[in-house]
Amino acid sequence: MTQVAPSQESRPEATPPELERVHHWIGGRAVAGTSGRSGPIYDPATGKVAREVDFAAVEDVDAAVAAAREAFPAWRATSLSKRTDILFRIRNLVEQHRRDVAALLTAEHGKVPSDALGEVARGLENLEFACGVPNLLKGGFSEQVSTGVDVYQIRQPLGVVAGITPFNFPAMVPMWMFANAIACGNTFILKPSEKDPSASVFLAELLREAGVPEGVFNVVHGDKVAVDRILEHPDVAAVSFVGSTPIARHIYETGTRNGKRVQALGGAKNHMVVLPDADIGMAADAAVSAGYGSSGERCMAIATIVAVGGVADPLVDAITSRLPKVRVGPGTDPDAEMGPLVTREHRDRVASYLESGPAQGAELVADGREHALYRDSDGFFLGASLLDHVTPQMDAYRDEIFGPVLTVVRVDSYDEAVRLVNENPYGNGTAIFTRDGGAARQFQFDVDVGMVGINVPIPVPVAYYSFGGWKASLFGDLHMYGPEGIQFYTRAKVVTSRWPDPGTSKVDLGFPRTR
Ligand code: NAD
Repeated sequence: MTQVAPSQESRPEATPPELERVHHWIGGRAVAGTSGRSGPIYDPATGKVAREVDFAAVEDVDAAVAAAREAFPAWRATSLSKRTDILFRIRNLVEQHRRDVAALLTAEHGKVPSDALGEVARGLENLEFACGVPNLLKGGFSEQVSTGVDVYQIRQPLGVVAGITPFNFPAMVPMWMFANAIACGNTFILKPSEKDPSASVFLAELLREAGVPEGVFNVVHGDKVAVDRILEHPDVAAVSFVGSTPIARHIYETGTRNGKRVQALGGAKNHMVVLPDADIGMAADAAVSAGYGSSGERCMAIATIVAVGGVADPLVDAITSRLPKVRVGPGTDPDAEMGPLVTREHRDRVASYLESGPAQGAELVADGREHALYRDSDGFFLGASLLDHVTPQMDAYRDEIFGPVLTVVRVDSYDEAVRLVNENPYGNGTAIFTRDGGAARQFQFDVDVGMVGINVPIPVPVAYYSFGGWKASLFGDLHMYGPEGIQFYTRAKVVTSRWPDPGTSKVDLGFPRTR
């Protein structure tokens, strides 16, 4: 605080300008929270608090659920053609405003514009998939299963469903969920990350403009209070979650104990196996792109390079030679390729592995703390970092770092590489780099991971497949979006039907038989 000299007339300190407040979105409009609690939203590139976000009280969540419940009967009864029409309009509005959405992502998450636009593009794919909902909801029909009897299956929406999303994809992950959820006739409550919530509210405005009725799409902001209320609310039928593994486990256990359908996607530690016959230049390009893109804050980022046999030295050299060219900077710098991390606390936790790694025996090949923006800026920057000779016992291998710190584990054989991947508790994504088709096919057969890339480092499935890891990367049965998303947001009803002529019936107490 500025000291005032005793001889000067003391003046009241200037009141800081009131920060813009991000509100909930309930029943088709922005609604201020009732709890009086809020959280800061940082601009990660400057380190300054840019806005505040309301944190919901139980009553705010209840109001959103009540709005969604009220909207459900009319929305589920809205014809498929009308719902499709609205989905096409949402798709077009998001496409039209993709730069506005991307700007919000850069402002609050910190990712650079090219990356933010990529996120919006992958989110749009989910809206496009959902536009095909009349086809996706087609049931099955079996004629004449018994004389004069037909059987058919229809899929119906669940009711009020909720989505709880992480900070690292503030637009795409909500679209993974709500596109299919509302297309199927459910009403939706989104609880986005409190670190970068503005994109959700902007999307809510676009949905309203597209003609989504009041109460069909709602947003409540906040922390554990909001999440736990969603998990226990009797009117919430299903919960989709994406975030870290400990919270995913909590969501799955609590939600299912309360009788809800739950899919909870957790954290990751993705391995990229490089076989001795791989094209070194291509593998190094892929490792740098997938390791440092979005500052390593992607659940499908490559975290560990598994270098098999003699490939290790040339590969580490090739990766190292590329690092000085990775341009770190704020989203306002048109040439920046890698932005800041989301918070100072997270950046410092990521940087701590550059201490613990060497202390536990790894070799620090590139130290992101030497970057000028780490030293001289208030933004949450860290340069591209590389740890070689990492072993499975080290913290840098065991923990999900979720930042621009790539680790290299050296192994002697393909079998050792596969064992390493399969023994890791996470199983989100993995990739193999090789020129041997047989080895790649064997890897796809052997590996205990849900999404596999063959010479593709970030194998995020397109929207007409589904996204999901194995092991500690997913709790629940169904993967997210795509066909499994449609399955998640609907339940099957099977109808057995007969239209007998009057006077042909008789009493029969036997169990119904088809023959
Ligand atoms: P996080 O688990 O901290 O938060 C996710 C959501 O849970 C947020 O909405 C947050 O408000 C809420 N939350 C946080 N703590 C809570 C608590 N104690 N009780 C109830 N709710 C709580 O995750 P994050 O830091 O926002 O995101 C990064 C994590 O998400 C990484 O682990 C990353 O791997 C993972 N992730 C996974 C996928 C995937 O598809 N598997 C995709 C993206 C991100």
